Amino acid sequence: MKFFVTGGAGFIGSHLVDMLAEKGDVTVYDNLSLGKKEFIESHLSKKGFKFIKEDLLNLGKLKVSMKDHDAVFHMAANSDIALGTMNTDVDLKQGIIATYNVLESMRLNNIKKIVFASTSAVYGEAEIMPTPENYGAKLPISLYGASKLAGEGLISAFCHLYGMQSWIFRFANVIGERSTHGAMYDFVKKLRKNPKELQILGDGHQRKPYLYVKDCADGMIFGFEHSDKEVNIFNLGCDGNTDVNTIAKIIIEEIKLNNVRLCYTGGKRGWPGDVALVAYDTSKMKKMGWKPRFTSDGAVRKAVTEYLKHG
Ligand code: NAD
Repeated sequence: MKFFVTGGAGFIGSHLVDMLAEKGDVTVYDNLSLGKKEFIESHLSKKGFKFIKEDLLNLGKLKVSMKDHDAVFHMAANSDIALGTMNTDVDLKQGIIATYNVLESMRLNNIKKIVFASTSAVYGEAEIMPTPENYGAKLPISLYGASKLAGEGLISAFCHLYGMQSWIFRFANVIGERSTHGAMYDFVKKLRKNPKELQILGDGHQRKPYLYVKDCADGMIFGFEHSDKEVNIFNLGCDGNTDVNTIAKIIIEEIKLNNVRLCYTGGKRGWPGDVALVAYDTSKMKKMGWKPRFTSDGAVRKAVTEYLKHG
C-alpha cells in the first residue's frame, strides 16, 4: 500500500510514519510549521519514501502530490489550541479548509480511504462520562475542537457522496518523545530554566487520559486494519486518567529535584477552551481486540523517562 501522511513530520505523525514505513511506501506532506525534518530523518534516504515540504492550503500542489496513493492519514492541524484562541481564523484554515483540501484532492485522485486525527475536544464538556463515541449533542468549547468536529462532518459527507471510507480517531491527550507541546513538555522546559519553582496553569486538578504516542500510532493502524464500515469512529485512549499535579510530581521525581515550589495560576481550566475533566469510553477499541500497552499514569511515567533520555 502507498500511504500519504499529512503532518507526518509532527509529533504523532512521525511515530505513525515509523510504523507505516514497515508496511508500505510513505509520502510525508508537511509544511514544517510545527513539525521537524529530524523526526523523519531516518527515512529520508529509503526507497519508497518521499518528503514534500508544502502547505495543505496550496490545493494545486496537494492535488498533484497525492496522485497514485492508496490511503491518506490526515494528521496535520494547528495543535496549539491557545494560539487558535488568540488568532480566530487559525483553526478555520488549518483545520477546516485544510481538511476540505485533503478530501477534494482525494476525490480528484480517486483515493478512497482517509484516516483522521480527531480529538476528545469534540465532546466539549460532556455530561456523560466516560463519554462514548455516539454521545451528543457535541458542543466543543474551543475553536480547535469546533474545527475537528467540522472536519469529521466533511469527512462523513465526502464518504457518503463519493464512495470513500474513513477512520476517525478521537485521541486522548497524547504524550511521549518528540513532543513539542503540552503539559509534560512545558513543565520540563520550565524546570530546566528554574528548578526551584514550577508554575502550573489552572488549579492542577485538570484530569485527562494520557495516551503514550506509540500506542496512539499503533491503535490507529489497528483500527484501520480491523474495521470496514463507511465511517468508522473510535475514541483512542487508555485506562484511567491523570491530573496535572501528578504529571508535575512524576517529572520532579524523574529529574530528581527536591523542594520544588508549585505555584498555580488558578481557576479550573489551564487556558480558555481547556476541558478540565475528560474521561471517555474506550470499550469500542477494546471490543475490536486492541488495547494500549500503558495506562494513563503509566504513559506519563514512560513519556517522561523517554523524553528526558531522548528529548
Ligand atoms: P504536531 O503539531 O506535532 O503535528 C502537526 C503537523 O502538521 C506538524 O508537523 C505541522 O508542521 C504540520 N502542519 C500543520 N499545518 C499544516 C499545513 N497547513 N500544511 C502542511 N502541514 C501542516 O501535532 P501532534 O500533537 O502530532 O498532532 C497530530 C494530530 O493529532 C493533529 O491533527 C492534532 O490535532 C491531533 N491530536 C493531537 C493530540 C495530542 O495530544 N497531541 C490530541 C488530539 C488530537
